[in-house]
Amino acid sequence: MPVTVKTFGSSGEAAAALSADRNARYLGGGTLVMRALNEGDISISTIVRASDHAMTRIEATGARITLGAGVTYARILAERDLAFLHSPARSIGGPAVRNMGTVGGNLFAPNPYGDFTVAMLALDAVVSVQGGLGSREVPIEEFLQSRDRQTGTLVLAISFAKPGSPDAFHYRKIARIKPKGGAVITLAAHLPMNGSRIVGARVALGSMAPTPIRARAAERALEGRSLDASTINAAAAVAVEGTTPGDNALASAWYRREIVGVHLKRLLSGQE
Ligand SMILES: Cc1cc2nc3c(=O)[nH]c(=O)nc-3n(C[C@H](O)[C@H](O)[C@H](O)COP(=O)(O)OP(=O)(O)OC[C@H]3O[C@@H](n4cnc5c(N)ncnc54)[C@H](O)[C@@H]3O)c2cc1C
Repeated sequence: MPVTVKTFGSSGEAAAALSADRNARYLGGGTLVMRALNEGDISISTIVRASDHAMTRIEATGARITLGAGVTYARILAERDLAFLHSPARSIGGPAVRNMGTVGGNLFAPNPYGDFTVAMLALDAVVSVQGGLGSREVPIEEFLQSRDRQTGTLVLAISFAKPGSPDAFHYRKIARIKPKGGAVITLAAHLPMNGSRIVGARVALGSMAPTPIRARAAERALEGRSLDASTINAAAAVAVEGTTPGDNALASAWYRREIVGVHLKRLLSGQE
């Protein structure tokens, strides 16, 4: 089936083209969408692109960070102000995928992918989207919950508050093939401190549900406490609550449930 490629100079025009055609898909880096096309996915008849520079901007010097949806992992890795995000960016694919793959595309990546989105969820990011009814900002958790209904919506950017201290952000990806490969599970935590107490704990998990999710029971166990061994043990003991992992070639749902607490404990204790 022929595929039409439409390139627009502005994100507004691209958003209008996307929302007008349910068989249109936006082309980020193309690492997933081109694979789908090459494998004969006939649900895609139009590819939409935008050359708008706003889609590839990085604003990283202030307290609030904004990444255009078209920002690649290679660019994040080249940005010193984004050093705390180098671990999630480096955990994705090999150099070719990191050169092409974008943070916008990662929001849509199904399991066992979506690693960067786990980091964004732990940072309480906000997703800027533009659809047929104009642009708006959506909390990332809400965005992920309705992800299957987002076809036709253009993601413009993702933004979040920079962690007060790089030590407050933790990330770990468990994979069979290191350093790349699909995730068995992915974990990210943002634990801002007020004195010696955690205030605003966020723990996010990948491959533990159809989309990245927050581990709310673990967050509750951490909130208001100091990050000592008993708090970490309490959070690890409840990490599995509310998760609905699936089986795939990398691991069974049972195995994922068994290891999530173990890896949360290692993540928060700073163990390898
Ligand atoms: C060999 C290989 C290894 C990989 N390893 C990993 C890995 O380790 N971890 C991981 O997380 N992922 C991995 N991936 C998956 C993928 O490369 C990344 O998730 C990447 O970030 C996807 O971004 P993209 O720009 O290439 O998406 P695309 O392929 O361009 O798009 C993917 C989907 O998102 C939609 N989309 C993209 N941008 C937008 C936008 N701005 N607005 C609206 N919709 C949009 C597209 O329409 C499409 O439906 C791997 C892929 C391959 C091929």
